[in-house]
Amino acid sequence: MPLSPEQQAEIDAQRSTRQETRRVVSEGMEAHLYTAYPVLDHGFIRVIDYMGDDAAICQAARVSYGRGTKSVTNDEGLIRYLMRHWHSTPFEMCEIKLHVKLPVFVARQWIRHRTANVNEYSARYSILDREFYIPAPEHLAAQSVVNNQGRGEALTGDEAQRVLEYLKADSARAYDHYEEMIGQEGQQGLARELARMNLPANIYTQWYWKVDLHNLLHFLRLRADAHAQYEIRVYAEEMCKVVADWVPFAFRAFEDYRMGGATLSSTALDCVRRMLKGEEVTQENSGMSKGEWREFQGVLEG
Ligand SMILES: Cc1cc2nc3c(=O)[nH]c(=O)nc-3n(C[C@H](O)[C@H](O)[C@H](O)COP(=O)(O)OP(=O)(O)OC[C@H]3O[C@@H](n4cnc5c(N)ncnc54)[C@H](O)[C@@H]3O)c2cc1C
Repeated sequence: MPLSPEQQAEIDAQRSTRQETRRVVSEGMEAHLYTAYPVLDHGFIRVIDYMGDDAAICQAARVSYGRGTKSVTNDEGLIRYLMRHWHSTPFEMCEIKLHVKLPVFVARQWIRHRTANVNEYSARYSILDREFYIPAPEHLAAQSVVNNQGRGEALTGDEAQRVLEYLKADSARAYDHYEEMIGQEGQQGLARELARMNLPANIYTQWYWKVDLHNLLHFLRLRADAHAQYEIRVYAEEMCKVVADWVPFAFRAFEDYRMGGATLSSTALDCVRRMLKGEEVTQENSGMSKGEWREFQGVLEG
């Protein structure tokens, strides 16, 4: 259950109120405001606030006043130009503030993105909920044999069952002890800041995360990528849907140049030129290592 009834009531109340404003609003983003989108078994993302839209990016790029009279095609063309040429500061003019509920091991990857402002639920002050991420059977995968930082096929049969039981039982046992240490009738109770240390990394935490669009796109480029760990990727994918509605031009340019595009080394570019001239280029005569060549083939084959 990602949201408690109280949280849902609060969101409903927020969504039912409308404010008149002179500020620029993105109609696409207004539709998302406050709604919690479930991620994993107990997590969610929801937009708490935002600033700017596609026009704000163009306005900053042109350093002009007001929204201007430029046509939509012009705005999209300008945004594509900015994205293509890494003119990134106009994208920093847009901001988003999210409320995210996520397992602690996902939070550890997420927090590495330093260019955001974070305020996390305090487990010194409050008691953590009994909520643990337990992977769905299809995500209970074996260690990859080709990638040290990845996973392979899903576990099956008795092994899958045993692993699932360990995860559930260990989480439950750790939480029982946490509760017990915090306080039982007639006991002093261990401080919450200490009792939490026996909790496993699949317990859920929550934070507010505020970031500008440039750095958000950097986050999404790394974390919505097929190579990112599934458990953070699903958050990034959910965020992509929101960003696509918030700043459609910027998101389309991002998808085109960053997510769908590729960077080639000068050696790889030289190989492409030789191929276009009809030369047979192989790994041996390419000047690339086996790994580089494999990745290059991946880029060419799509
Ligand atoms: C697939 C994958 C595997 C990874 N594996 C590991 C791993 O094994 N071990 C590990 O420790 N991390 C790992 N990471 C984390 C990775 O190294 C980065 O820390 C993380 O992706 C955040 O990227 P960032 O620093 O560019 O982002 P941000 O912190 O948002 O920074 C954005 C940019 O701002 C600049 N910047 C911000 N702060 C500073 C600073 N203090 N000094 C200099 N420049 C700064 C840099 O140019 C940076 O690229 C992995 C990430 C991915 C996506």
